[in-house]
Amino acid sequence: MVSSASARNPLWHPFADMGAVDGDRLVIARGEGSYVWDDEGKRYFDATASLWYANFGHGREEIAQAVADQLRTLDSYNLFGYNANEPALKLAERVSALAPEPGSKVFFGSGGGDVVDTAVKIARSYFAHTGRPEKVHVIGRVQGYHGTHGFGTAVGGIAANTAGFGPLPGDISHVPYDSAEALEAEILRVGPERVAAFFCEPVIGAGGVLPPPDGYIETVADICRKHDVLFVADCVIAAFGRLGTWFGIDRWAVKPDMITTAKGITGGTIPLGALIVAPKVAEPFFTGEPGAPVLRHGATYAGHPVACAAGNATLDIYERDGLIPRGRELEKPLADALSGLVSHPLVAEVRAGLGFLAAVELKAEFLASDAGAPNRLQRMAREEGILVRNLAKGIAVSPPLIAGEAELDLLASALPRALERLV
Ligand code: PLP
Repeated sequence: MVSSASARNPLWHPFADMGAVDGDRLVIARGEGSYVWDDEGKRYFDATASLWYANFGHGREEIAQAVADQLRTLDSYNLFGYNANEPALKLAERVSALAPEPGSKVFFGSGGGDVVDTAVKIARSYFAHTGRPEKVHVIGRVQGYHGTHGFGTAVGGIAANTAGFGPLPGDISHVPYDSAEALEAEILRVGPERVAAFFCEPVIGAGGVLPPPDGYIETVADICRKHDVLFVADCVIAAFGRLGTWFGIDRWAVKPDMITTAKGITGGTIPLGALIVAPKVAEPFFTGEPGAPVLRHGATYAGHPVACAAGNATLDIYERDGLIPRGRELEKPLADALSGLVSHPLVAEVRAGLGFLAAVELKAEFLASDAGAPNRLQRMAREEGILVRNLAKGIAVSPPLIAGEAELDLLASALPRALERLV
């Protein structure tokens, strides 16, 4: 049903076929728990936690209170130069204390893309300040997604996302997402003396919910260490419980040089990103004496007190409600809920079982004759009362960590019905 208020509105949606959207906008008006309601009062299970981020669900009074209190106390103030604010200091301390490497530093941004680009600049800058300025090359993975800023677009490995944008930042290449040997071969091809960083999502999200092969994460971390390449774990989706741990990458016994986070750090309530920088990488900038190199980088809203207040209240919720381990506890129930789809004639594969996220991929022969099928499947699920995310080859789900049996049952019953309606 098209709401007259939304059709032909000037609002331009990201990643959207606006010609199609214009007659079919879904205007979300309200949210509570694992559910949202549209402007006509229809309720949906938010099976994607909005965009992989509403980890504690919607409508938490504690967040509203913390944000309102902060707005009344100090509504804004920048973090440039000598300036700081209490919520930013507190959140940095809490995030650092949770990080795999004790003594990590925290650099805030406005979201995931911000901190991805920050990570590239810090990687290059770190080597420039430690006498190896030629180490600038960055390696990403095919199907990787690292946001839509300049470096993130270029490090990302989804071809459709770079088409038509002209020349992107150089000295960036890509390797297959499932081969550690390919990473080492690429480092050797470029020359280890030229490679600064390797970017890796623990589980690729937007590129298709692609979990790493067994042993992959440990092996690529070792390869990076061997060649003095910084290992950057992009945990913008994976962190804050999605994989059942604080940062996602800490499911494996590895110590990344940098961890990018955003989304779940505030449950998406207020835009915020946080880059966690291991002491080794931060050291040139933290000599303890005036005159250390200055990182001439940062966004206006970095460390915004209201965003950080939301972040602190979010960590309180995760800790108090024990939500972080749920990403692991719920991974099998989610896989079970989707298991009925495996034998469906249109389904090629169901990827589930590592963290509270999953993808249903449609068969290639079906997609070949109907490339719009993922969009239509998303639409059919919506009619069945479930919001899922369309991918290039299927759909993804990543429900709030508060979802329970009733919501998983909903998925198990509604998705087959949506699939039936595809043909
Ligand atoms: N990195 C990853 C792994 C992401 O999934 C995303 C967004 O989905 C980003 C970076 C970019 O984050 P943002 O959209 O907040 O800029």
